[in-house]
Amino acid sequence: MSNPNILQSALTRLDDAARHVRIDSDVLEKLKFARETMKVRLLIRMDDGSRKSFLAWRCRYDDTRGPTKGGIRFHPASTAEEVETLAFWMTIKCAVTNLPYGGGKGAIQVDPKTLSKAELERLSRAYVQAFANIIGPDRDIPAPDVYTNAMIMGWMADEYANIRGEPHPGVITGKPIALGGSLGREDATARGGFYLTCHLTERLGLSTEGLRVVVQGFGNAGQHAARLFASIGAKIIGVSDSRGAVYAAEGLNIDALLKTKADGGSVNDANHGGNAISPADLLALDTDVLVPSAMEDMIDETNADSIKAKVVLELANGPVTPRADEILNQRGVIVLPDILANAGGVTVSYFEWVQNRQGYYWTLDEVHQRLKTIIEREGDAVWGIAKDRTVPLRTAAYIHALGRIATAVEAHGTQN
Ligand code: GLU
Repeated sequence: MSNPNILQSALTRLDDAARHVRIDSDVLEKLKFARETMKVRLLIRMDDGSRKSFLAWRCRYDDTRGPTKGGIRFHPASTAEEVETLAFWMTIKCAVTNLPYGGGKGAIQVDPKTLSKAELERLSRAYVQAFANIIGPDRDIPAPDVYTNAMIMGWMADEYANIRGEPHPGVITGKPIALGGSLGREDATARGGFYLTCHLTERLGLSTEGLRVVVQGFGNAGQHAARLFASIGAKIIGVSDSRGAVYAAEGLNIDALLKTKADGGSVNDANHGGNAISPADLLALDTDVLVPSAMEDMIDETNADSIKAKVVLELANGPVTPRADEILNQRGVIVLPDILANAGGVTVSYFEWVQNRQGYYWTLDEVHQRLKTIIEREGDAVWGIAKDRTVPLRTAAYIHALGRIATAVEAHGTQN
């Protein structure tokens, strides 16, 4: 089970930002609690004829700036607190990138690896049946997250169309291209973080020449990050997944690792050209960039001291705890915070939603250029706040987001 105090811990970042700028009390009050969290038990037929139930949630944390937006994760350790925390982070993330959205999130408490494809499809459809009145193209728009993908989004969009009696592609993003998905959504989370790192290279004290990268977590975000950094000549010296970690000082064979993962194997099974190491040693590798790309709380006060990376690029949501943040900050490790660093995913989700509403589709190059423009623009803004106020980038990103949320709270009026 994930940390039961994860939401309280996440909310301390608001206090942290409030120490540096005056934040309207209306805004703080609004962001302290989720607006609406619905919990259901989904009952599905298993292939062997038995029935099995699964806990599921959908949270609309805050819709001040627009319909709520955020992924659905399938994970055995998901809890209501985790879903609300992730939805809180989506609220901040959409404000950092100035997308016209609030924040939401959903989850099913399940290990999807234990289900057949047909069971997975029934479970995905059951989720949409249960939450059909919570979600909607102008209300709450889900997307992929940990252990969910385009195939699952396709089933969910199809189920929503069945319920409404007509297609509504804008109800969910990260869909297959054939159902109105956007080009470039698949690698968007990693690509946003990659553009950010490249844009800030000199300011971060890095050089793309001989850049060493370690990727912790080798799912969608981690795999694409390894591929993108390798494409500019970086050496990917370490990667890990839930089953193991591997290391090669001169760089791992990324093509072999990607192929093994595509075939359902673990990083250790690949002809990667390195050696197996422990997950703890992977985090402690001497590297330029460490890319946590898996789950929350991976770097906490027990291991923050061991981190030797110059820069931590947070492609996961919440991989560094507030206590670890302080330690990394004292030690001069720069953290590119999740609410900016992994915002490429939701940004291209927004592009998908825009294209669905217009019925007019963009080229891959248009998607990449527009993503780059947004990430670089907001990256510069956050960097500027951090320098002006001498605060870490995460605090700067919160200050940036809270300014936008405060303007929207004010614009809505104050009498209800
Ligand atoms: N699950 C992703 C995130 O945490 C993407 C959300 C979306 O595309 O709406 O940012």
